[in-house]
Amino acid sequence: MGSSSLLEPTLSQGAVDFIDSDRLHGLLGRPADVRRVRDVLARSLAKEPLTVDETAVLINATDPELTAEIFEAARRLKREVYGNRIVLFAPLYIGNHCINDCTYCGFRRSNRDAVRRTLTSEQIRDQVSALERMGHKRLILVFGEHPRYDARFIAKTVETVYATRTGKGEIRRVNINAAPLDHDGFRTVKSAGIGTYQVFQETYHRETFAAVHPAGTRKADFLWRLDALSRAYEAGCDDVGIGALFGLYDWRFEVLGLVSHARHLMERYSCGPHTISFPRLRPASGVRIDEKWLVSDHDFKRLVAILRLSVPYTGMILTAREPAELREQVMGFGVSQIDAGSRIEIGGYTEAGDAQTQTREREQFELGDIRSLDEVIRGLLREDYIPSFCTACYRLGRTGEHFMEFAIPGFIQKLCTPNALTTLLEYLVDYASPPTRKVGEALIRRQLVAMPDGDRKAELMRRLDRIRTTDDRDLYF
Ligand code: SAM
Ligand code: SF4
Repeated sequence: MGSSSLLEPTLSQGAVDFIDSDRLHGLLGRPADVRRVRDVLARSLAKEPLTVDETAVLINATDPELTAEIFEAARRLKREVYGNRIVLFAPLYIGNHCINDCTYCGFRRSNRDAVRRTLTSEQIRDQVSALERMGHKRLILVFGEHPRYDARFIAKTVETVYATRTGKGEIRRVNINAAPLDHDGFRTVKSAGIGTYQVFQETYHRETFAAVHPAGTRKADFLWRLDALSRAYEAGCDDVGIGALFGLYDWRFEVLGLVSHARHLMERYSCGPHTISFPRLRPASGVRIDEKWLVSDHDFKRLVAILRLSVPYTGMILTAREPAELREQVMGFGVSQIDAGSRIEIGGYTEAGDAQTQTREREQFELGDIRSLDEVIRGLLREDYIPSFCTACYRLGRTGEHFMEFAIPGFIQKLCTPNALTTLLEYLVDYASPPTRKVGEALIRRQLVAMPDGDRKAELMRRLDRIRTTDDRDLYF
């Protein structure tokens, strides 16, 4: 398999290296065969996950006509599998102490300009209350890598978040983005009721990984990280998120790395990742960005469309690192989740107030989209998307292998659209500005007209009515 690690794999003994760099490089840059490209698109539209080789066929298809076909196929697949829902969440940065020195990150230990903080339980409650008052229901907690952020600390933080209630507001799903844990650690956070555990590989290219994660740091162990989510599955966390930080190395290689990772998890644990993230490198405090591998907007759209086509049933997350305009364009190619109203400076949801300011010293990197949740929702509604805060599957145990069975179009339309509409209406009634409520109510009316009559629709209409006229909330199918 891939070229050997520069480090002793002390922690990662037993880990499987499923990245064969030579093979992946060999698949790239081959001439495109139009018939083969169309065959691969047809397979994807039949909702077959693509192999790594098939994914490379799409990557190698660069002429404008084939690119347009790829975009159109991704749009179609997204509509058929996910409909027009977009799930909304917010990141909550808990602490930025870090023992690592990732060259691209504002939290790296050698960055003397970073203001280091860890929220206390009381400060966490304040941040969560502020998020609940905006209308958020789903959070992702973000941590630097540091002994003080061990599994027990993460679990306790999760419990604090779930226990914080503000008026009608509550957080119903807490996801995690933190350093890789060992088996016991994953068991500990699982028992606190986490949703998805995300670990981004950053880059699947070993040499680049070694160059951006200085030797001697915990993060320099490529295999410990590559194996993280396998340990999560083995410890019973079957809801995991993978990702690559685009801009460190050739985006085409990273896409093949992500697809290799998804297939590895699928083959070993009968269940692929729940989500894929594809953050692009952003400016950060004291970070000098090497422009060589930066991904252009055009290639970014291609990579999102190709990922959509390769892993039809995996949720795709587009973060506020990207500017609003690009987010709107890319959404149609297959994104299923976005964050909104995000603040990534620690304490930012109360301390930054309404001022849309960003302070480099207090952030991990700069955001591209700093619109409020209300503005993002209004924008989505105007584009005919259904903003959703649904958390039903996870709370009814529809995750992991089990979830994959359910992730078929009929099921999604029958459960997800109604759940999206009830959670949207909760938002409109409890938190929205008058103009947002107006466009939102109009969208709900249109959706109901388009929905076939029957018991499900009748029950949905009763629930919508209860939300409008009573304090009953959290009515999910
Ligand atoms: N410390 C943990 C880790 O490294 O896995 C988790 C939290 S880290 C704050 C979350 C992610 O932010 C990283 O995995 C990385 O992909 C991303 N990130 C770091 N620096 C970035 C930058 N300058 N621009 C965009 N994303 C960045
Ligand atoms: Fe620390 Fe994570 Fe930033 Fe690396 S990416 S310096 S591990 S917070």
